[in-house]
Amino acid sequence: QKDLHTKYFGQHYIYMDSTDSSNREAKLLAQEGAPEGTIVVAETQSAGRGRLTRGWFSPYGKGIWMSLILRPKFSPIEAPKCTLMAAVALTKAFHALGLEAAGIKWPNDILVKGKKIVGILTEMSGTMEEISYIIMGMGINISVEKSELPEDIKDIATSFAMEGVMVDRKVALQTILQELENQYNKVVSGGFDTTLEEWKQLSVTLHQDVEVRAPGNTYVGHAIDIDRDGNLIVRLPNGKTERIIAGDVSIRPA
Ligand code: ADP
Repeated sequence: QKDLHTKYFGQHYIYMDSTDSSNREAKLLAQEGAPEGTIVVAETQSAGRGRLTRGWFSPYGKGIWMSLILRPKFSPIEAPKCTLMAAVALTKAFHALGLEAAGIKWPNDILVKGKKIVGILTEMSGTMEEISYIIMGMGINISVEKSELPEDIKDIATSFAMEGVMVDRKVALQTILQELENQYNKVVSGGFDTTLEEWKQLSVTLHQDVEVRAPGNTYVGHAIDIDRDGNLIVRLPNGKTERIIAGDVSIRPA
């Protein structure tokens, strides 16, 4: 903690050798009143989660498998801001760590040359009026090697090591927490527009032809923008625009 240059992100630090899911662990802590900025970091997760029923591959010591507790004072409909700010923060941290090719894939991944290096899972608890807490789960592949990747993600996943960038996990964590805290402070003090602009700059989805699979509908079109709520705006072949809500969607180049 003394090595951290953050004020509060990571100052409450729960380190675990092993857990089923750092998000589940963080949720318990949040329910017990853990302060904003608390992080749970595990060497491995036996049932790391992605969105819906998807799993997150979290081999021992090979990544940063982390969950961060946030308690923003804005309304639940603004929660997507946290996912956007996390994506911006992580991407900026990666650039600083020497991985300049990292970019944001809408809604919640970070890619390097088309391959996924980070998954972000945002879970929220509260009422319609008030957020009680947000858990930001982040799985960051650091020294994962291609040979150990499960078959189903062999061709879609990458890591710092696979990209030829050697980083110390501790240094990476410090840089990431610093960027997260900076971005978060900006967002909660009314500076979300800057974060959104940065998101657009760092995005690999905007201005591309995309295929978006949403529940009950698949859209093929051109990604033209993202709005303040984190929805993707796609121009369809018939010229109409469609606003796609970041929910259960998967997206790929069309
Ligand atoms: P999606 O990419 O469909 O939005 P998530 O962001 O929730 O889904 O991430 C889960 C998916 O990511 C899994 O279904 C799997 O394909 C892939 N995946 C799982 N573990 C890793 C990992 N360590 N690195 C990269 N991709 C992974």
